[in-house]
Amino acid sequence: MTEVSQRSTLRTAADTEPMVLAFDVVVTRVQELGANFRRITFGGSCLAAFGVAGDTLDLRIKIIIPSRGRECPDIAGLMQRGGAASWYQSWLGMDAEERGSMRTYTVRDARCEGPRPEIDVDFVMHLDDEGRGGPAAEWASTARPGDRVCIIGPNSSAAQCLTAGAYGGIEWSPGLAQHVLLAGDETAVPAISAILEALPEDMSGQAFLEVPDERDIQSIETRSSVAITWLPRRGLPHGELLETAVRDAVRVPGWVSLAGSADAVSGGTEPEYVDVDRTILWETPQLLETAIVRSTVNPERPSGTQPFYAWIAGEAAVVRGLRRYLVRDVGVDRKQVAFMGYWRKGRAELS
Ligand SMILES: Cc1cc2nc3c(=O)[nH]c(=O)nc-3n(C[C@H](O)[C@H](O)[C@H](O)COP(=O)(O)OP(=O)(O)OC[C@H]3O[C@@H](n4cnc5c(N)ncnc54)[C@H](O)[C@@H]3O)c2cc1C
Repeated sequence: MTEVSQRSTLRTAADTEPMVLAFDVVVTRVQELGANFRRITFGGSCLAAFGVAGDTLDLRIKIIIPSRGRECPDIAGLMQRGGAASWYQSWLGMDAEERGSMRTYTVRDARCEGPRPEIDVDFVMHLDDEGRGGPAAEWASTARPGDRVCIIGPNSSAAQCLTAGAYGGIEWSPGLAQHVLLAGDETAVPAISAILEALPEDMSGQAFLEVPDERDIQSIETRSSVAITWLPRRGLPHGELLETAVRDAVRVPGWVSLAGSADAVSGGTEPEYVDVDRTILWETPQLLETAIVRSTVNPERPSGTQPFYAWIAGEAAVVRGLRRYLVRDVGVDRKQVAFMGYWRKGRAELS
């Protein structure tokens, strides 16, 4: 195997474990998963320190993509010098070419306990006819074993003192709900797949995955009885099939009976408008609990005790439309749904 740097940020001066580390990793395998997905496996002995206490679920990481023909910046060095909190400002202060680009991805699988620790990341190939796209998609389209990037992800030592849910990079949090709805586009396929693989037998519900075409359909194993539906777009507008599927699954009125409860719900209030061109649409039960709608939450139904939980991610305007439907038209309690804009059409990810 290619020689791999073992650098990673260890303890801080205060001898407390940092939540995140920088991992200098190397591409060890590349696999075509379908017409529009490439699985890139990253290896490196430093990954022995990567992980959360439990399933990775929708665990997100940051990947620093080096500029073409350049080496990856030394993020582990920045963290060691400035601490895990201030490395980002130092990185932003670098010359753009030297800095590269930072993008967010999901850990599709992590095998970090053996002698050759590895992580799989499934990249969507959103490229035009000339093979041009964003820095991450372009990099992934030509990635070969031996190529290097830097991953910023969870420190397994810190995770040992915490539950997986306490780490900020995991949003999946159904509480005691046993009936779930998962809906997402191709960028959410890795997260939904990993979540489904981790679900217990007594979980039921539906999962909708919209992908560019049928050659992107993958096999997902789950012990749960969640029904998995792939929605190949075949040129239809992005999100159209997903929206129809969610509307059919969560009807007005009557969605609650889907969750096995006799309660009746008749509509809700208009959620605050989110300008997805200017800000990130990210509304999760954890966030709401601490801030936004404390006053509107039904105190008789604290978070985690409800029968239904939904997890929705993908293109931000599509997610915003689903949020409006579920919150305003159906009246779903916002503490039951995680709405996440994973990317925005026409906009590069903000670093
Ligand atoms: C928590 C989280 C987890 C994610 N997990 C994954 C994952 O596992 N796999 C994955 O592939 N993506 C994932 N994404 C989405 C990914 O971060 C974005 O698609 C990102 O913009 C890709 O970076 P880029 O450099 O290729 O394109 P950017 O430079 O960010 O954008 C360049 C152009 O490409 C467009 N674009 C970006 N993404 C897409 C797309 N998917 N389809 C069509 N056009 C696009 C933008 O609108 C822009 O016009 C995740 C995002 C989040 C927030």
